[in-house]
Amino acid sequence: MEQGLAISPWNTWRSTGIMFEIVAKSGTDGIADVYVAREKGGRGRIFEFVDGLDHRYKRQDKWIINISTQFGCPLNCLFCDASHTFEGNIALELMMGQISAVLKMHDESLKKTCRKLKVHFARMGEPALNPSVPEAIGSLRNMTDNPDLWACVATTLPKGSGSWLRRLREAKEMHFRGRFQLQFSINSTDDSHRSKLMPFDYEDLGKAAEFGAYFFTKGDRKVALNFALAKGVAVEPDKIRRLFDPEIFAIKLTPLNPTSKGRESGLSSAFQPVDSTCVISLVEEFRDAGFETVLSIGDQRENEIGSNCGQAARSVLDNAAL
Ligand code: SF4
Repeated sequence: MEQGLAISPWNTWRSTGIMFEIVAKSGTDGIADVYVAREKGGRGRIFEFVDGLDHRYKRQDKWIINISTQFGCPLNCLFCDASHTFEGNIALELMMGQISAVLKMHDESLKKTCRKLKVHFARMGEPALNPSVPEAIGSLRNMTDNPDLWACVATTLPKGSGSWLRRLREAKEMHFRGRFQLQFSINSTDDSHRSKLMPFDYEDLGKAAEFGAYFFTKGDRKVALNFALAKGVAVEPDKIRRLFDPEIFAIKLTPLNPTSKGRESGLSSAFQPVDSTCVISLVEEFRDAGFETVLSIGDQRENEIGSNCGQAARSVLDNAAL
């Protein structure tokens, strides 16, 4: 981790009057560069964003920008370092500023010519708690006319997400038909396990099924139900099949990424990325139930360099407190 980088033209950004400076950068070329930034002229709040690649592709073929929607997160999931702090929502201009900063770090032509440019609203923060996220999705189109621009949003569906989701759907219909990825982070089919992992008021599985069906229109990418598989946490494909339509929903299984918060909470992954044999039967059960199912393992080096959500910002905040 490099910290306190000297101010230079590329690490101070002004977007519609809001400026931030990059205070730390971590990462490994070819996977993900994680930037920790501090807003300037305000309360000096910290956030992070990622300039990422899918290790199987060159940047020209696939480029993934992942931005924060909140300064930390108030929801306190037991496996996530973003909940280390919470200092409010990130304004529209600062969300766009994160994207603009990453785009400007590379050749100007790339944002137009990249064959799959994906902007994820999935770093620090719960997007459904920030009412400016649907507007940010709409504003993405002002940044590039690349026809292969995708928008991706991951949410835990906190209680009362309905009206936000309605606005998100409008933005998707207007700007990203067929190029939008929505993920519901479900994590368990057992409500007592879910409420332990995600200790806040959230929409139940029945409501999630209803919301996904409302959001989805023909030609869209299916809504992903994500389970970050933790040891001892129940995931029952039968229960999912009873509530969710495989024509609308797909399943994404991931290991539980190692984080400080997860360790402090006594959580560990149900499987290690190097050996996924113990979850193969779960994958098959979901497939037998009719769901497209992916086992998404990611690049192990992301764990080694601590580039999981909230880790870099937590490290900066912890060091500042010393
Ligand atoms: S997983 Fe998402 S909702 Fe939960 S604490 Fe982290 S950022 Fe917040």
